[in-house]
Amino acid sequence: MDKLLYINGSWTGNDLEKIEVYNPANGEVVGTVPSCGKDETNAAIDAAHDAFSQWSKLTAYERADYLMKLYDLMMEEKDELAELMTLEMGKPLKESAGEVVYAASFIKWYAEEGKRVYGRTIPSSGQNKRMQVLKQPVGVVAAITPWNFPAAMITRKLGPALAAGCTFIVKPPKETPLTAIKLVELADKAGFPKGVINLVTGASSIIGKAIMDSEKVRKVTFTGSTEIGKKLIEQSAATVKNVSMELGGHAPAIVLDDADLKKAVAGVVASKFRNAGQTCICINRVYVQENVYDEFVELVAAEAKKLKVGNGLEEGTDIGPIINKDGFEKIAEHVENAVSNGAECVIGGKGTAENGAYYYEPTVLKNVNQDMLIMNEETFGPVIPIHKITSIEEGIQLGNKSPFGLAAYVYTESLSKGTQVVEGLDYGIIGWNDGVPSAAQAPFGGMKESGLGREGGIEGMEAYLETKYVSYVL
Ligand code: NAP
Repeated sequence: MDKLLYINGSWTGNDLEKIEVYNPANGEVVGTVPSCGKDETNAAIDAAHDAFSQWSKLTAYERADYLMKLYDLMMEEKDELAELMTLEMGKPLKESAGEVVYAASFIKWYAEEGKRVYGRTIPSSGQNKRMQVLKQPVGVVAAITPWNFPAAMITRKLGPALAAGCTFIVKPPKETPLTAIKLVELADKAGFPKGVINLVTGASSIIGKAIMDSEKVRKVTFTGSTEIGKKLIEQSAATVKNVSMELGGHAPAIVLDDADLKKAVAGVVASKFRNAGQTCICINRVYVQENVYDEFVELVAAEAKKLKVGNGLEEGTDIGPIINKDGFEKIAEHVENAVSNGAECVIGGKGTAENGAYYYEPTVLKNVNQDMLIMNEETFGPVIPIHKITSIEEGIQLGNKSPFGLAAYVYTESLSKGTQVVEGLDYGIIGWNDGVPSAAQAPFGGMKESGLGREGGIEGMEAYLETKYVSYVL
């Protein structure tokens, strides 16, 4: 599968050096993409810039028609998209199919939401004076996306940006460019005018720098690690770019002693083990009240034991491969550090690394403490460390003990205790008895070092709009 760049409505870049894309399930090459540089990136920026004047003038209804065509095509080609996603990313096919539907939901929701971008009229203080607030698209948007959700992390940006009237350049990650290219092929089929959507692949630092240096790009929307997000924020200063940052997480889950343990176990297992634990909002550490601790550990271990590790394309697989060697080594380091400092491995604790394919068993650790690496850093793997707490206050205090603030979870049947935890935690997203809170219509994003801004919901549309205030005297 040899793929190309998409610039100004044409597939291009055949003459460029190629980057290989691997199947993490077996290390085999599944395709190539061009490695573009500054010139191609600038050509994509110019195309998006030229297309902006026309696209932004269309009515929201006209833009919605294009978006709905893309939505329909995504749903028609759901199976092909899912298979491609599993091939280059590794997640089980059933999860890939779920992601395609989730990704498409952003396109559909924002096609509708674009029709509700309202300005406002402010009562003025003078009889002859009128005051108005207009909402207008920010301009050319560049999106830099991660590998863990190869489709949804693009559409969560593409949907609102295009609905708002912006034009778009996407730079997918080196691990999963093929899903991104397939999405753009569908957009091409949907008939978007040339230049409205552009795609570049290649050396991220060169492409990133060209984007950040360009005065034509008015907004950068990034999803990825906090480390790279910080670099991009620094680079954005030169042109004072509007930036949205969806960065790393380190989600705590607090299980109180009145929780419905069945619900809590199901929620924690669903959150932690989907995508092999490689999800920014997945639970990374669990705090359980002492009188239900042993029972909770036992139940979670029993559920985790049932999960089958393997190639995501094979029927019955629950946990696919780890994306690469670095990811695998980080997981192994977190587990080794915990065990060597006194944690007990209830199940799992081992991985395999053969022929460029990395797998890690579902792992449950008990008797962990707050000084261990795993309690302080995002693991991005199928490991649950479970820590005993004595009180709700201790749970909130330990839950907040992190520079990150993306997602947190609480399990309790008590309205007052749940409210106390929700209000006490410094996190942008909270799942209360809910392990999978994300939805197109809801704001998604983090506090502290987890990011800036929100995607999804009405907040996700606002991110692509400028506010213009007009005062006029009759
Ligand atoms: P990453 O290494 O930061 O990469 C993310 C994107 O940035 C990729 O497209 C990458 O391209 C690009 N990139 C790398 N260096 C760059 C540079 N110097 N300039 C411009 N772009 C650059 O993150 P990842 O490993 O793909 O993703 C995992 C991280 O994403 C985790 O920390 C996870 O928590 C976070 N995440 C957050 C959310 C959220 O919504 N908050 C959602 C999903 C994931 P190349 O791969 O081509 O180098």
